[in-house]
Amino acid sequence: MSDSANLSPSVEIERLANLIRQWDHAYYVLNESVVSDFEYDQALLRLKSLEDEFPELKDPSSPTHRVGGYADQAFSEVRHSYPMQSLDNSFSREELEAWFKRIGMDQERKRLVFELKIDGLAMSLTYRSGILVRAATRGDGTVGEDVTANVMAIDAVPKVLPNQEIEELEVRGEIYMPLSSFERHNEMAIAKLANYEGSAADRPKVFANPRNAASGSLRVKDPSITRQRGLAFFAYQIANDLKDLSDSHFDSLRLLSRLGFSVNPNIRLIDNFDEIFALLAEWEKNRHSLDYDIDGAVIKVDSFAERAKLGSTSRAPRWAIAYKFPPEEKTTLLEDILVSIGKTGRATPFAKMTPVFVGGSEVAMATLHNEDQVRAKDLRVGDVVRLRKAGDVIPEVMGPVLAMRPDGLPEWQFPKACPQCGSELRRDEGDADHYCINYRCPAQAVARIVHFASRVALDIEGLGETIVKRFYDLGMVADIADIYSLTFDGLVALDRFGQKSATTLLQAIERSKTAPLNRFLVGLTIGHVGSVAADLLAGRFGTLERLRLATVEEISEVEGIGPIIARSVVDFFAHETTTDLLDRMAMAGVAPEPVEQRQSQGGLLSGLSIVVTGAVEGFSREGISQAIKEAGGKAASSVSAKTSFLVVGESPGASKLKKAQELGLRLVDGTSFGALLLGVGTLDELEDFVP
Ligand code: NAD
Repeated sequence: MSDSANLSPSVEIERLANLIRQWDHAYYVLNESVVSDFEYDQALLRLKSLEDEFPELKDPSSPTHRVGGYADQAFSEVRHSYPMQSLDNSFSREELEAWFKRIGMDQERKRLVFELKIDGLAMSLTYRSGILVRAATRGDGTVGEDVTANVMAIDAVPKVLPNQEIEELEVRGEIYMPLSSFERHNEMAIAKLANYEGSAADRPKVFANPRNAASGSLRVKDPSITRQRGLAFFAYQIANDLKDLSDSHFDSLRLLSRLGFSVNPNIRLIDNFDEIFALLAEWEKNRHSLDYDIDGAVIKVDSFAERAKLGSTSRAPRWAIAYKFPPEEKTTLLEDILVSIGKTGRATPFAKMTPVFVGGSEVAMATLHNEDQVRAKDLRVGDVVRLRKAGDVIPEVMGPVLAMRPDGLPEWQFPKACPQCGSELRRDEGDADHYCINYRCPAQAVARIVHFASRVALDIEGLGETIVKRFYDLGMVADIADIYSLTFDGLVALDRFGQKSATTLLQAIERSKTAPLNRFLVGLTIGHVGSVAADLLAGRFGTLERLRLATVEEISEVEGIGPIIARSVVDFFAHETTTDLLDRMAMAGVAPEPVEQRQSQGGLLSGLSIVVTGAVEGFSREGISQAIKEAGGKAASSVSAKTSFLVVGESPGASKLKKAQELGLRLVDGTSFGALLLGVGTLDELEDFVP
């Protein structure tokens, strides 16, 4: 994390924990990878080492303590009978040797089982008297999602077992998408997208990798979609106690196989280190010979008795360890370094390379971020470069292979002029980026319109980059206000633009006229204003009119908004181009939906994060949260080091109370807090709760 060098430990811990939470949400709920698995693992390791170094800054809800998934509310919840844990990771021979030592291999030889780590998603299958009755995802390890109907549609999962005498059997394993199914699915999706005119919900989905594809295909509403996706399953564990049938892991895998489950054929029973290292080396080399993705191997203690002695942490068993393969690297020729211009004019250099197959797909381009990064790596056009992609979508140029650098390759210079409009590319002091200074630069104009119509902003389906570029080149749209002058006749007059596409697009444009204010603000491309700042601004000012009149001071008062954003917002609205845009949009009927105004910072409980346990007289559970928010506070659902105090009402929950006491938090009496919310007393007069 090179850019974190100057952060204080507490800021860095908070930043990393927040980032990881966001990545987890994208990964586990949206089935998308924002960063590579390698980067994710590095961030988690960094967070763990900071927490170890500064234990006083440890937040009990940190991602390092828990299983990283979520149970999405779209499915009913399943409480697991036995927790579904994650695995501890190792990334090197030394780390693996340290684990051998931890489990006592240096004192006594133990039988271990070597398994491939299948890159899919964990599944729990419950059978009663040989019949599959429930299938659940891991979720957060305690509560998963009920996906029985969808799993019923997967041929590779047995529904009825040959042996009906086992009363209860819980099988754990990995649902995955074979590479053949993955490629077939994506090819079909890409072909369908070319002429797609249907609804957004049915839009064919192109997946970034087989893991996201498996998760996305399993967690859909319609089991017939799951069926079409050709998912498969490997069983790797029996979760409940069947010791009378098997007393070791390897034995239980044999039992699973006899019961008709597909068990990975590459599993090995082993009792010496060298064999494990040889297998790891072999599979790292041959991982692409399989019809499924693996991201490493899992090594497990075989004997159940020994496992019981070793036990588990809150997150993972001590008797198993994952070994993750290092990110794959390839070399290729850096043919050119080009610059792309974004919606704010930012000029981002990117590498154009001879296409090469790495990490499961062909790569020909990779972002180089900014001038300093190119310099730090000393990349020169004509270099052979090392390229990696850690198991998913984001390629990264690591650096040049200096031994292969031809003599006399000149250093790369950041272009002085915008490749699109020829204006100056300027880098201000203290800024890492260059910007094209011409607001009317065609690349910027197109990028702004594309952004306005994108999912994070106004979500105008059908107004993607290709179409916007076409409209722009034809002079139909020069800025976001022009979107609202598009007409049916104008659209159908275009080559290859059907009546249905025109109607759908115009309907989406019409809908966008009353989008909520926060989305509209995101769409305007105001410097430094992304969705978080837009939410805060909309929540504080409520309407566009009020925000337009606000001063820098008023905006800076919004919690979470600093003077730089405030200045940028005021400058944006003061600019005549903005006035012209907003006037034209208003004339076309664009009226962003006001957002309910939140209390300004001056609220009674402003800046406080409050958890309530038990009932507080005069308030329902939702009522009290609402009242806290209205008083400017944050009503949190779980106790953490960030909690300002715990309000203890009637019949409080033991766990919240215990946790607050462990953390040394203040306990406040429920009745006095209720009175405060009703306007009686002051914060200073709150009474302590004495347990
Ligand atoms: P994990 O994937 O590292 O290990 C645990 C999982 O391995 C189990 O739940 C199981 O599903 C799977 N597994 C596969 N083969 C197995 C076998 N033979 N035996 C036992 N288990 C097997 O840990 P996790 O908690 O599921 O996920 C965390 C990992 O997911 C991260 O280390 C990262 O690589 C990835 N991740 C990436 C992002 C991202 O944005 N790229 C976000 C979140 C998580």
